[in-house]
Amino acid sequence: MNLAQRLAALALLAAALAFHAPHARAWGGDGHQTVGAIADQLLAGSRAADEVKRLLGGLSLRDAATWADCAKGVERDGDYGWRYATEGRYRDCRIFESDAGERAMVDFVRRNEDNCRREPGDEICHKGYHYTDVALQRRAWALGRVGTRESDIVGATTAAIRMLRSGFAPPPFRFESRREALLLLAHYVGDIHQPLHVGAVYLDDAGQRVDPDNDVYDRRRMETTGGNAIRSLRADGREGASLHALWDDVPAALGPDRIDARWLASARRVAQSDGPIDDWPAQWATQSLSQARRAYRDIDFSPREGGHWDARLPGGYKDMKTDIQKTQLTLAGARLAQVLRAIWP
Ligand SMILES: [Zn+2]
Repeated sequence: MNLAQRLAALALLAAALAFHAPHARAWGGDGHQTVGAIADQLLAGSRAADEVKRLLGGLSLRDAATWADCAKGVERDGDYGWRYATEGRYRDCRIFESDAGERAMVDFVRRNEDNCRREPGDEICHKGYHYTDVALQRRAWALGRVGTRESDIVGATTAAIRMLRSGFAPPPFRFESRREALLLLAHYVGDIHQPLHVGAVYLDDAGQRVDPDNDVYDRRRMETTGGNAIRSLRADGREGASLHALWDDVPAALGPDRIDARWLASARRVAQSDGPIDDWPAQWATQSLSQARRAYRDIDFSPREGGHWDARLPGGYKDMKTDIQKTQLTLAGARLAQVLRAIWP
């Protein structure tokens, strides 16, 4: 390459990296622990609980539920090596920060770095397992639509279930053991119920909604990366958190220590999903997509500036959000328990 070609290639790479801001930590540790804790309590005394205990040793599903996010702390170290670089940073990762625990995270990331289909600027494969980006205009998650991938949250959740049932994960996933698959499943079932990890709004430069499956679609300009590229405007007009971060953040009342008998009873009433167990994750994603439509309802967006849009949130948004979050955490905890009971009846 001559200098001009090299500069052009660099500019392309920089643009790709800039538009593809990585998704943040889903639900935050608290939301994931709530999902795991609901499942722990629903499974108490069952054969599935014994199998969970056998695979995870001393860990509960509540503990396990954050492992896949903790593993995002593994980075390349020089040309060949890897290291866990966030030791001590996250409270809910401490239980995994022994020598053996860090080796297990490094090993998972190394296997799941470059095994999926990626475009220039896309993140490392395992980080893409946590979400999908189905347009709000669709009525269901279906592979092949804009924003979906075989290695998205639906594929990853299904693969973890298959690994637990058969001892093999379908490609492109490289899950090594049933223990690893259970750690992952306890997390992915949470993510697949976070509406902004499933449904995405696509916007043009003027901040108008576009349908990426049917309109002219330019990924670089129109993708909002699950709301990470949308900043909420506060009542005083100042910029607040990204829309994605708002939805990841769970109020204290929905934390894992706040699950009472009434909440558990509502989790017990959740109907089991239909059909073969391998189809359940797609059904769960479709339900989250309908919640994402509510999350984006009545929001006006500013024109795109500096790679992001601003969103003015309608009145009552926070209460509506807490309400949906509680529903989704309940469904996630109940369904994690249901799928484990289906695996170990
Ligand atoms: Zn996640």
